[in-house]
Amino acid sequence: MNIKVHRGLEQVGGCITEISTATTRVFIDMGQNLPGVGEPTTEEQDAKMVNDIFAMDAHKQTAVFYTHAHGDHVGLFYHVPADIPQYISVGGKEILLAKYEMLKKGHEIRKDYECSIGQMLKGRLETRQAIIRKDEDLISRIKLFRTWERPKPHAMPTALTVGDIRITPFYNCHSMYDSYMFLIEADGKRIWHTGDYREHGYLGKGLFPTLRRYATDIDVLITEGTMLNRKDECIHECEVSRKMANVMNAFKYVVVLASSTDIERLAAIKEAAKTSHKPLYICNGLMRRTMSIFTRREGKVSKGLFEFHPHYISNNDVKKDSMRKKGFVLISGVSNLAFTQELCKDLDSSEVLLVYSSWDGYYKDPAQVAVNPRYKSFREAFNNVIDIHTPGHADRKTIEKVIEEVKPKEVVCIHKEPGAEL
Ligand SMILES: [Zn+2]
Repeated sequence: MNIKVHRGLEQVGGCITEISTATTRVFIDMGQNLPGVGEPTTEEQDAKMVNDIFAMDAHKQTAVFYTHAHGDHVGLFYHVPADIPQYISVGGKEILLAKYEMLKKGHEIRKDYECSIGQMLKGRLETRQAIIRKDEDLISRIKLFRTWERPKPHAMPTALTVGDIRITPFYNCHSMYDSYMFLIEADGKRIWHTGDYREHGYLGKGLFPTLRRYATDIDVLITEGTMLNRKDECIHECEVSRKMANVMNAFKYVVVLASSTDIERLAAIKEAAKTSHKPLYICNGLMRRTMSIFTRREGKVSKGLFEFHPHYISNNDVKKDSMRKKGFVLISGVSNLAFTQELCKDLDSSEVLLVYSSWDGYYKDPAQVAVNPRYKSFREAFNNVIDIHTPGHADRKTIEKVIEEVKPKEVVCIHKEPGAEL
């Protein structure tokens, strides 16, 4: 049995790990490099790298498994040869479909708008149409992904088999909905791949019981190490919610900047809005769709924690007047700045607060700001800003506890900053 980390040993994101035997190759993740992290790669370079990987040992039975739907783990799926099966959780597949279908919708709206104002020169129309065709291609590839369903609580997860390798997915707590770790059994060896994980979320209490029960006799532990060099404090998601409720009590109008695909953060915000007796609004199309996925799939089993019934508000909506009268909590995506500014423009700015609930590197790290200035611009549009956030990744203490619990013969640490060490 061989383990080869193609990418991701000395960088956060862009993860590709291969486990192979004489007859079989299994890849865990096929991730895109994160923008602003290390050397950027072009689409052509990515395509060539993935092609080269699959051109090797082409006679072996091969499959790709995704730990979760973040782009730095799944982003290169499109370059994987069409005859190689790709596996992801049911929830992960729904999120990917939602994301790419919303992107396509955005591209169509832009094309129609440009056509309607007569701005569309022939060459530009062709470019727009090519973008939409590519969106359609991506969506049809995602629809072919094979899936596994999360087992019921306390039920034994089922292994999937590719050639002579067995892979068993275990549910994980991370800042992306429906994330997984894997037990991989090959040539009599047992490998545990953590994916991205943490203990300090609503779903994190399952981490150590799962490891205790299933991560036994592990030869190699492959763990993520995103936080090893970072100083961010990991507070529990409940604490995030409590802090938010406090500030929501103090301000009449609260905008929260958060990710559409992080079910736990959205629940923390929703609970805080409830505690502070403020109506909850959203204005982002993807968030509307992910919340309805969460509510359908998780509302009942979570006893309502992951059930979402916010008011959806769009441009020229009459609801805006009542929002201004009663006060509100509005969850916004980073792409909704113009809408949010328009909504808040006549309000007394001393009564408006932005809760920045995303990674602070997006506005503090110059390399991040250079590739995507929108987080910084969002913050700067508000007079009152507070950061309330907790990472989606395990801190050093938790990683050490995991190693202690699993007691592997060897540890491989991936998804970490250059020079970071255990
Ligand atoms: Zn992730």
